[in-house]
Amino acid sequence: KSFIVIGAGILGASTAYHLARAGARVTIIDREDTGRATDAAAGIICPWLTQRRNKPWYRLVKGGAAYYPELVKMLEADGEEETGYAKVGAMLLHTKEDVVDKMVKRAAERKPAAPEMGDVTRLTPEDVTARFPVLAEKYSGVFVSGGARVNGRLMRQALINGANKHGARFIKGDARIVYEETPPEKAAGAKVNGEMISADGVIVTAGAWAREVLEEAGVPFQVSFQKAQIVHLDLPDTETGSWPVVMPPGRLYLLTFEEGRVVVGATHEDDTGFDPRVTAGGVQEVLSSGLSVAPGLTEATLTETRVGFRPFTPNFLPVAGPVPGKEGLYAANGLGSSGLTSGPYLGAELARKVLAKETELNLDDYDIASAIEGLEDRPNS
Ligand code: FAD
Repeated sequence: KSFIVIGAGILGASTAYHLARAGARVTIIDREDTGRATDAAAGIICPWLTQRRNKPWYRLVKGGAAYYPELVKMLEADGEEETGYAKVGAMLLHTKEDVVDKMVKRAAERKPAAPEMGDVTRLTPEDVTARFPVLAEKYSGVFVSGGARVNGRLMRQALINGANKHGARFIKGDARIVYEETPPEKAAGAKVNGEMISADGVIVTAGAWAREVLEEAGVPFQVSFQKAQIVHLDLPDTETGSWPVVMPPGRLYLLTFEEGRVVVGATHEDDTGFDPRVTAGGVQEVLSSGLSVAPGLTEATLTETRVGFRPFTPNFLPVAGPVPGKEGLYAANGLGSSGLTSGPYLGAELARKVLAKETELNLDDYDIASAIEGLEDRPNS
C-alpha cells in the first residue's frame, strides 16, 4: 500500500515513520513553514499532574508519555541516536504548603494507573533550589521522576530519518490533494512542485495550516491556532543538562537542555493570524514572569525567541482518523499545547488505523467529524 503524508511536524513525521516501518510505501511532503509548532515547542513531557478532566485527552497524553521510551529504542535500533529525549524529572511548584499537599495527593492517586510517572517526592524550598539553582527560594513542590523533556526538532528529524531508512521519500514543497474524477470523493494522491504523485491514501497532518488544505477538498475543517512566543537563554559556564522541568503556578514553565540552554515559555495569543514576528510585548510577558520565578536568570544571555502556532480543534481535543465521505483521505490534528507529548503516539495509532490494524486507543473518541462543520453531532462525536 502507498501513502502520502502532507505536513511533517511531530505528528506527520511519526505517522510516516510508523507506516514506513510497517512496510508501506510513503511519500512525506512538508512546506517547512515558519511557525511550525514542533520547531518552537518547549518539550515538556509530564501529563500526569494536569487538572484537565477530559478523559480521552488524558488517555492520549498519558499513552504518549508512556510510549516515548519504546519509541526511542526503536529509533536507536534504526541508527537514530539523537532523539533529544531525556528523563530528567519534573517539578510542580507552589508557594502554599496546603496546595503542595494537594498536588502530592493527586500525583500519588494517579500513580497506580501510570507507573511510568516514577517516584513522587515532596520537596522543600531548599530541595527545589538544589535541583534548579536559579529559582527564587519561595517554592515547595512535588517531583515526579518519570517527567521528561524532548527536543522537538531532533525528535522530528530522527523520525523522518527513520522513515527514510525504511524507504520513505521526503519532498519539500506545497502539497495539494488530488481527487479522482469518478467518483469525485476519492483521494487519488497529491500534487507538489508540479509533480503528481498517486497513492492509495492521503494523510493530512498539516497542523495550523490544515484548514486550507482540506477546504480545497470541500471539507470545512474547524482547526484554528494560537500563537506562542518562547524565549531561549544561555547560562554561561553552567551544566544544565540534568536539571528537571519546572512548572510554577500559572501558565509559565522553564526547562533546560545541555550546555546552559534555558527555555522559558510561553505566550498564548489569539487572533494574530499567521504572524511569525517576535514582539516586544511577547518577550516582555515571558521574561517578566520568568525572572520573577527565576531571578537567577537575570544575567543570562538572551539568545533566541521562537514563534509557533499551536493547532486547536473546537473542543481542544485532538482528532485522528478517516475524513468522513472522502475515501482514502485521513487527517489528524488539534494537538494544542501538548502535542510533543501525544504526537508520536497518535501518529503510531493513526498508522495502525490506516493499515486496518487494531489500535490501542478507541479512535472513535477522537473522531474527525467532531471538528468538521455540520458533522459535529454525528453519533460518534
Ligand atoms: P506542526 O509542527 O505545526 O507541523 C505542521 C507541518 O505541516 C509544518 O511543517 C507545515 O509546514 C506543514 N504543512 C502545512 N501545510 C502544508 C502543505 N499544504 N504542504 C506541505 N506541508 C504543509 N507540547 C508538549 O507536549 N510539550 C511542550 O512543552 C510543548 N510546548 C510548546 C511550546 C510552544 C511555544 C508551542 C508553539 C507548542 C508547544 N507544544 C508542546 C505543542 C506542540 O508543539 C504541538 O502540539 C505539536 O508540535 C503540533 O504538531 P503538528 O505536527 O500537528 O504541527
